[in-house]
Amino acid sequence: MFWQGGGADVRGLMGPGVDPHAYRPTRSDIAAMLGADLTLWHGLFLEAQMEEFLLQLAARRPVVAVAEALPRDRLLAHDAYPDRFDPHVWFDPDLWSLVGAAIADALVGAGVDPAGEGLPAWQAEAAALHAYSGEVLSSVPEEARVLVTAHDAFRYFGRAYGFQVEGLQGISTESEAGVARIEQLVTLLVERGIRAVFVETSVSDRALRALIEGAAARGHAVTIGGSLYSDAMGPEGSYEGTWLGMLDHNVTTIARALGGRAPAAGRLGRLST
Ligand SMILES: [Zn+2]
Repeated sequence: MFWQGGGADVRGLMGPGVDPHAYRPTRSDIAAMLGADLTLWHGLFLEAQMEEFLLQLAARRPVVAVAEALPRDRLLAHDAYPDRFDPHVWFDPDLWSLVGAAIADALVGAGVDPAGEGLPAWQAEAAALHAYSGEVLSSVPEEARVLVTAHDAFRYFGRAYGFQVEGLQGISTESEAGVARIEQLVTLLVERGIRAVFVETSVSDRALRALIEGAAARGHAVTIGGSLYSDAMGPEGSYEGTWLGMLDHNVTTIARALGGRAPAAGRLGRLST
């Protein structure tokens, strides 16, 4: 992200393809956090299995849950926990831009990046990405603006760009999709003529295959429209391994698979195709 030119030694604990809802810290993760000048985590119950440890660590070390800075009236409710919010805010660039500001504050506060210089340029990129997303996603025919994925990670995306969003599993990845839910989504795909569903890099695609088979049994062909980055980014060092790149990949993939127009290599011509 924007601070990585600043000389800080940054270590991400969860690599590409790792599911943060289920992740448990390893011994070496714990040692890294105990020794760090600053530990950033998402919050909003995303890292459900790490929350207890991180809250305890915050009593002793500089620890900031960056998404907790967002105004509550801009958050969506959690489907399973009435007192929690849907954590997947990074799919709304306006919200994530605010989280970026919270990260810059945390870096300045901990003396990791005393100037916080990279923020304005990064926020300008976030705004440009938001404009591109609005443009290519509005080229998808209105009746096809339905995003079916393995788990419910894309509700902020749906709100930002006017898509109906349906996850086979709920907001967390911990539960299995039931037969009734699969049947309900098959009916939606058939009745609305939706031709693509999307796999996620950090969630099993087994249940999605049941959807495709179910629709085929009713005479409607559905394909995998592509693989989306939901809760994990792409390979380290790649464009898709950044937040800007993962969103570019997602919106470009979604627009093209659902009948819209978008350049194959995305907003900046940098996507691997
Ligand atoms: Zn998720």
